[in-house]
Amino acid sequence: MQDTYKHKGLRRQLINELKEKGINDQRILDAFDAIPRHFFLDLAFLEQAYSNMAFQIGAGQTISHPFTVAFQTSLLEIVKGHKILEIGTGSGFQTCVLCHMGAKVFSIERQKELHVKSKKIIKDLNFNPRLSYGDGYKGWPVFAPFDSILVTCGAPFIPEDLKNQLKIGGKLVIPLGEGSIQRMKRIIRLDEKTFEEEDFGDFKFVPMLKDKAN
Ligand code: SAH
Repeated sequence: MQDTYKHKGLRRQLINELKEKGINDQRILDAFDAIPRHFFLDLAFLEQAYSNMAFQIGAGQTISHPFTVAFQTSLLEIVKGHKILEIGTGSGFQTCVLCHMGAKVFSIERQKELHVKSKKIIKDLNFNPRLSYGDGYKGWPVFAPFDSILVTCGAPFIPEDLKNQLKIGGKLVIPLGEGSIQRMKRIIRLDEKTFEEEDFGDFKFVPMLKDKAN
């Protein structure tokens, strides 16, 4: 696939839209400028094909909505070198944004086909996250604790395993709720046992599913 001046122009336009919507972290905007988003789009459609009809529209909007990626990223307050666990590699676009910002990224995907395809695209773009094919509900205990954990699918509840894999001061960004609309939550671990919860409004995500489908 080619990255042309036309694509670069479209990215500039997108960046201006993100700025208008309140995304002002230059490192996030730089990542959107650098990463050729169109490389990932076929995969996003592929993921929709896996969803049932009820989720198809939501899935399309969620995956292709750059503002959601930018907004979730801003909630993480990434510092270079941070260890970040992403649940739902999907197309791999969000993974690349985190890598571009200098984070050490670990990402889990439960659909084998997406895991395999995103791995190739991410490698072709010269990013080097650790990718796993598995169930995100369990997190990735061998690499815990994490500075932040980013869930990119709608979770019916907040998995205890994910909370427990946060560093003290670490943040879990998670769209919470079953059905077509979720509330964006940020959970901050204040100490071993205390967690603070913030709410950032309504978003649409594909569901976080249990067990492996294939
Ligand atoms: N970050 C992705 C978003 C993909 S949509 C991107 O930038 O494209 C959410 C993804 O979460 C889907 O690929 C879906 O297969 C995956 N997913 C759903 N339940 C999961 C689970 N329990 N563990 C890991 N991934 C899951």
